[in-house]
Amino acid sequence: MSEFDVIIVGGGIAGASLGAEIAHTRRTLIVEAEDQCGYHSTGRSAAFYLESYGGPEVAKLTLASHDFLTAPRADFSEAGFLRVRGDLHLTRDELPDLPPAVETRVVERDELERLIPGIKPAWRRALLEPGCADIHVAGLHAAYLRRFRRDGGVVRTSARMVHATRKAERWTATLADGSSLTAPILVNAAGAWADDVARACGVAPLGIRPKRRTMVQLRVGRSGLRDLPLVDAADGSFYFKGETDSSVWLSPHDEIDTDPCDAAPEEIDIATAIDRFEQVVDWPVERVERSWAGLRSFAPDRLPVYGFDPVVAGFFWCAGQGGFGIQTSPAAAKMAASLLLGSEAPSTVAHINPAVFSPARFSR
Ligand SMILES: Cc1cc2nc3c(=O)[nH]c(=O)nc-3n(C[C@H](O)[C@H](O)[C@H](O)COP(=O)(O)OP(=O)(O)OC[C@H]3O[C@@H](n4cnc5c(N)ncnc54)[C@H](O)[C@@H]3O)c2cc1C
Repeated sequence: MSEFDVIIVGGGIAGASLGAEIAHTRRTLIVEAEDQCGYHSTGRSAAFYLESYGGPEVAKLTLASHDFLTAPRADFSEAGFLRVRGDLHLTRDELPDLPPAVETRVVERDELERLIPGIKPAWRRALLEPGCADIHVAGLHAAYLRRFRRDGGVVRTSARMVHATRKAERWTATLADGSSLTAPILVNAAGAWADDVARACGVAPLGIRPKRRTMVQLRVGRSGLRDLPLVDAADGSFYFKGETDSSVWLSPHDEIDTDPCDAAPEEIDIATAIDRFEQVVDWPVERVERSWAGLRSFAPDRLPVYGFDPVVAGFFWCAGQGGFGIQTSPAAAKMAASLLLGSEAPSTVAHINPAVFSPARFSR
């Protein structure tokens, strides 16, 4: 079959979650360039759910995703996707200013020493965000794709879209193998490649820029780490969380401009991460167990982009999910689906103003 109602370009969490919301009512195809969906940003995240992250507008999408992530319907997943651990926003001086809708409380030095044994004296206090949780990202992504396929959606991997043209109210998309597919609606869920995909469809890009972030799994001479809170610097210079009993996932919170690519970590960023980590706790660093990097892609105002392009008909943006694309995916997909289908927004997202995320907010 080569005729569809909707073609989604990109099989990461953005494309999979939107696909899962619309496949029951539209013949939908996901085309994914790699041989597996989730190979890029989705498979490389730090996997946490943090309500304060990304500012007040993103927080609305995150908060509206909470119940779905905690207790999804049984026909979607038998288990929830969150494991609560809390987050300490650590500071030497001023506490951070977080969105008012997010529950927090101040932790002074005495309590900090109990929560993070071995914390160095410079760190005076923290803001505890108790709702912070790990997300089972692979499970969530797989559940979206399962729902998508169960509702009749088709996934084609190793299927890079090279260009698309629009004629008589239909897109004809050409893949790298020369085959072509048609649909009246084309969704751009291409992550770091979102602007490239727009250009390949004759649509003006929005200025969505990929930024590399480095992650390091570090073995340390300390045990009992698995359930410690996520620890992040209020000044945005690092974060880490327990992964196994004696290892942590650590990031220097880097944000390095790069072209869309198969991102890999640089030695200097790994070294920076370890240096900053050693200034926080006295846990002896034993070795780097593994390291990886991924791309976080941002629109110029760092808000995601959901909605039809205001100039080119039938081109739907689902991009710019930055560092919050996993934790916002349930609510964002529901909101985007209602925009795409022209249907009423479900009650869980009815309070969120989709105009905030519209591509029409940019003048091009
Ligand atoms: C290190 C790191 C830590 C992060 N931590 C968190 C976190 O803790 N919590 C959180 O919520 N988010 C986090 N994020 C952000 C999150 O991972 C992203 O926002 C999310 O994965 C973006 O999903 P996506 O589907 O848009 O992109 P991707 O997963 O990159 O998917 C886009 C897909 O489009 C495909 N594609 C591109 N061009 C084409 C084409 N022409 N034809 C066909 N397919 C194409 C690509 O191959 C790719 O698979 C983190 C990201 C990184 C890198």
